[in-house]
Amino acid sequence: MLQRVNPGNKALADYRSIVRRELYEEIQELRLRLEGRRVLHVNATSFGGGVAEILYTLVPLTRDVGLDVEWGVMFGAEPFFNVTKGFHNALQGADYELSVEDRAIYEEYNRQSARALVEAGEEWDIIFVHDPQPLLMKHFSQGLSERTRWIWRCHIDSSTPNRAVLDYLSPYIKDYDAQVYTMREYTPPDLELPNLEIVPPAIDPLSPKNMALSADDASYIVSQFGVDTERPFLLQVSRFDPWKDPLGVIDVYRLVKEEIPEIQLVLVGSMAHDDPEGWEYWYKTTSYAAGDEDIFLFSNLTNVGAIEVNAFQSLADVVIQKSIREGFGLVVTEALWKARPVVASRVGGIPMQLEGGGGILIDTVPEAAAACVKLLRDPEFAYTMGRRGKEHVRANFLIPRLLRDDLRLFAKLLGV
Ligand code: UDP
Repeated sequence: MLQRVNPGNKALADYRSIVRRELYEEIQELRLRLEGRRVLHVNATSFGGGVAEILYTLVPLTRDVGLDVEWGVMFGAEPFFNVTKGFHNALQGADYELSVEDRAIYEEYNRQSARALVEAGEEWDIIFVHDPQPLLMKHFSQGLSERTRWIWRCHIDSSTPNRAVLDYLSPYIKDYDAQVYTMREYTPPDLELPNLEIVPPAIDPLSPKNMALSADDASYIVSQFGVDTERPFLLQVSRFDPWKDPLGVIDVYRLVKEEIPEIQLVLVGSMAHDDPEGWEYWYKTTSYAAGDEDIFLFSNLTNVGAIEVNAFQSLADVVIQKSIREGFGLVVTEALWKARPVVASRVGGIPMQLEGGGGILIDTVPEAAAACVKLLRDPEFAYTMGRRGKEHVRANFLIPRLLRDDLRLFAKLLGV
């Protein structure tokens, strides 16, 4: 069998006071129709990335409402991940030379994973496959019950895909009983998807990264990193990556500092030990900061984990997201949930998240700086914006809504 992940326990009842009553009741109604149904989620990793983050909450909550849910990780090793990383970038529009060898590696790992699934001999009502890595498992799963319904969830913006990779993957994508994308704009332009479902992602409001922290606790944590909590600070939490534009954020901060000299800037980014690109960009950002003592750079390697990210997000005076390109932008959701005013680029899922009035959309560095200054000078305006953002997230981007959307789709596909 595939490697099973144990995601622990969660109870939907704990979320009851956080979400709208109708949503909670709809989940209760759906659970009656789906009780005991067997669901298998399949992805490529149990650690890192948005998909794993979501599954750690979604799997236990789906179990809590009475379904029999498992999470399996497919087989993978370096040659396979090199190919699928290439596919991922190609679906986002990067150049890619699709070779016979790449296809052979990709197919082989999918074939082996599918064989393990079939040989385990279990019956599944739903198999929920995430992203391109395990996409071909359906194709190679002959021998599994005909009754099983297959869902493919694409978390990637594939609106301008590399043609060769898309043409290769298309027949497999179409073969699924449902294809789920974050936004309609993310689907490939001329790919016919009759079973398309649009479901944005969500955050877990009770996870260590998003649970309520008191101002005192947040301040206590932030001050331990040397940031002066008596003075305002701007924050961006993002990988050190050109698409997240940390250098642009420093430019914004410098313009703000001309008007508000006491301002500080905190940049938090997670680093992988084996990501040379990340390190290169970290050093680039450090040297761009040029020894400015009011600019702070932190990462998971300097002990900034989920709770610390929570503290920085909870306390920031303005949260910036100056991405040049973005997927959904979960960090924006996280900041809005903490009622922080957001200044962010008009890319990816950000406009949809700021629709409720939780932030200011910008296209340039001077626009971003002007928006920050306005928010820093007018705390009442900033406060109102923060509250609006939080309510927008409560209504649209919390995990019970994602659970409801999944259950709806299961009920539809199973005809119950
Ligand atoms: N993140 C983190 N520590 C960091 C940087 C990022 O925990 O130092 C988390 C962040 O809180 C969010 C996720 O990584 O949950 C990033 O998701 P997003 O959709 O914003 O961007 P991606 O990195 O997937 O492009």
